[in-house]
Amino acid sequence: MISTATKVVETLLSAFGPQKWWPAETPFEVCVGAILAQNTNWKNVELAISNLKRLSAGESGVGSRGSGGKGLDAEFVVRLGTAGLEEVIRPAGTFRVKAKRLMRFCKWLVEEHGGSLERLFDRGPESLREALLEISGIGPETADAIALYAAGKATFVADAYTHRILARHGWLDWESGYDDVRSWWMDSLPRDAALYNEAHALLVKTAKEFCKAKPKCDGCPLQKMLPDGGARERERW
Ligand code: SF4
Repeated sequence: MISTATKVVETLLSAFGPQKWWPAETPFEVCVGAILAQNTNWKNVELAISNLKRLSAGESGVGSRGSGGKGLDAEFVVRLGTAGLEEVIRPAGTFRVKAKRLMRFCKWLVEEHGGSLERLFDRGPESLREALLEISGIGPETADAIALYAAGKATFVADAYTHRILARHGWLDWESGYDDVRSWWMDSLPRDAALYNEAHALLVKTAKEFCKAKPKCDGCPLQKMLPDGGARERERW
């Protein structure tokens, strides 16, 4: 029998088509984006990343990666230092906290893995996830975003958008934690990174266009899957 999770993904895919995520050029940029993306919109993250790329291209004396430079990498971020990094990523918001987190990740990558993402990613999804979660400031959502979008591992990014859709349909409680939301998807869908990538992108699109703070169920592709009585809201206190 087809699972609810599969039905959700198929419904959204036929409504919206493939989403072609993630908007970053290299796996390292994906890692930077995942760390900077907390509590801000992607436009601000892009601005911060493009500042970093401009500076790194200037340092190596080239205009772009295609010109023979190394481009943006962990060694460059470490050389920049925390104060320098704060200035460059300022557009991403809460820049002091985020600069510390990004610096910790980059130092760890350089010291433990010779600055090589290939070396870091040369392990299974759970082991990579556990390694990333050891770094202070990297939470499960960031670890999953790096593992899925930068390393191509089959792990689900169970963000707040995803949770909201499940809770409103009564498939999971509003009080459920991150791991419950992640397991809800991973226990039902085949372990397939491309599928998880597409599913997450489709869910984010649904949440941004329909399942907002106040849901707009009319016209939403998932309306036909609502429980009797409509979307379930979190109980107010
Ligand atoms: S039908 Fe309503 S509750 Fe369900 S995803 Fe769409 S907007 Fe959200």
